[in-house]
Amino acid sequence: MFLRFVIRKTAITIGKRNMSMEAKFEPLFKKIDELKPRFIDRLAKAIEIPAVSSDESLRPAVVKKAHYIADELKKLGFTDIQMKELGTQPPPVNDPNLQLPPVILSRYGTDANKKTILIYGHYDVQPAALEDGWDTDPFKLVIDEQKQLMRGRGVTDDSGPLKGWLNVVEAHRELGFDLPVNLVTCFEGMEESGSVGLDTLIAEEADKYFKDVDTVCISDNYWLGTKKPVLTYGLRGCNYYQVTIEGPGADLHSGIFGGAIAEPMVDLVQVLSSLVDSKGKILIDGVMDMVAPVTEKEKELYEKIDFSLDEMNAASGSETCLYKNKSDILMHRWRFPSLSIHGVEGAFSAQGAKTVIPAKVTGKFSIRTVPDMNSDKLDKLVIEHCQKAFSALGSPNKCKAELIHNGDYWISDPFNASFTAAAQATKTVYGVEPDFTREGGSIPITLTFEKELKTNCMLLPMGRGDDGAHSINEKLDLSNYFGGMKTMAAYLHYYAAAEGK
Ligand SMILES: [Zn+2]
Repeated sequence: MFLRFVIRKTAITIGKRNMSMEAKFEPLFKKIDELKPRFIDRLAKAIEIPAVSSDESLRPAVVKKAHYIADELKKLGFTDIQMKELGTQPPPVNDPNLQLPPVILSRYGTDANKKTILIYGHYDVQPAALEDGWDTDPFKLVIDEQKQLMRGRGVTDDSGPLKGWLNVVEAHRELGFDLPVNLVTCFEGMEESGSVGLDTLIAEEADKYFKDVDTVCISDNYWLGTKKPVLTYGLRGCNYYQVTIEGPGADLHSGIFGGAIAEPMVDLVQVLSSLVDSKGKILIDGVMDMVAPVTEKEKELYEKIDFSLDEMNAASGSETCLYKNKSDILMHRWRFPSLSIHGVEGAFSAQGAKTVIPAKVTGKFSIRTVPDMNSDKLDKLVIEHCQKAFSALGSPNKCKAELIHNGDYWISDPFNASFTAAAQATKTVYGVEPDFTREGGSIPITLTFEKELKTNCMLLPMGRGDDGAHSINEKLDLSNYFGGMKTMAAYLHYYAAAEGK
């Protein structure tokens, strides 16, 4: 109810003040459609470069793609283009001199009277090979006319959205329309490999290149399903732990030592089983107490979302969902914490019947975190819990629980100026109000931008939930490429006209 009210009110205000703005949409959208061959060609050229950041041997291709994009930016009138070098890649690497690919900074417009939007995208891609099961060469853009989609590694993640921004600028130029905002680009080439080096660069440039940034728009995620556009306002964090139990000096034979020795694996299984139950309930004292309560306003957002148990089952390829109704499923994926047990290092895991007693085993598990969990407090609770559970076993073995890495959760205000502008743009292009979604995974860079630039971020996805971003036959529907660009274009205008940031 509240959401509907806000959007309608904004629409009226914008409508009165900016009739000329909305009059621009028709020629703008027409121009975007007209430039279809050029926009597809621009994406095709990008897809042909196998910019796989995780493959050291392909690093020259990643760098080549950066230069291809920089050339395009130059042609389109972007200025102050800087290829920011991030130094050598930290270990583990085969080549200790391996250079990280550059981050592309550039500007479009420097008008102090306009707002400035930082657009983030990444030009690197996930690995892909025909042998993995692709129907066509992953590094060649293929258009499936029948299904009206484009296929190729990176079309939806994230080359399509990245090119989308360039295309939006080109459409404005072709029409002689002024861009209503200044743009600053931050395009990186290591996103698929942990965004190495980017945090430092953002911190360094916060008061320099990124000084006048009013808001950040990230187009690097997807609609929840296949039909309805979404805007994303939250991501869970992730605290990853390991618990190591060691005893005997070496792996032993169960025929010789079994029954007379305290087995680390037996202890570990019991410690791990004390963390979570089979209904997904976290059994560590104090963890759930930190979770922010669900508000009425929030409940309404969930009730409106276009999603069903069937879609969940289709996505998981099973009927193993722990919940039956939509809100419960989504809340447990997005706004409640979860604990997953991932594996055991040092344990026997191959086929067959090896009778080993492993001397040292390390269990790996992680907790997806949400507001208002405190990361340090969580670590303390988790580590104390593991030690307590181990002590209760009365085992002579040794146990050590520790944090391996953590990334904080992110939550934004879905009713701020940027989200409201994007909701308005979505309505204009797709004729429906977007669903406001959160995601269960993490995009740590979102948080870095907010912290360092002291501004807010919005996630504006272009592709659909079934695009297969990290999978085989990655695709982007033509309607999403073109609808996405129109949404981006309209968003720039609505945001320029909105009050506040
Ligand atoms: Zn991505």
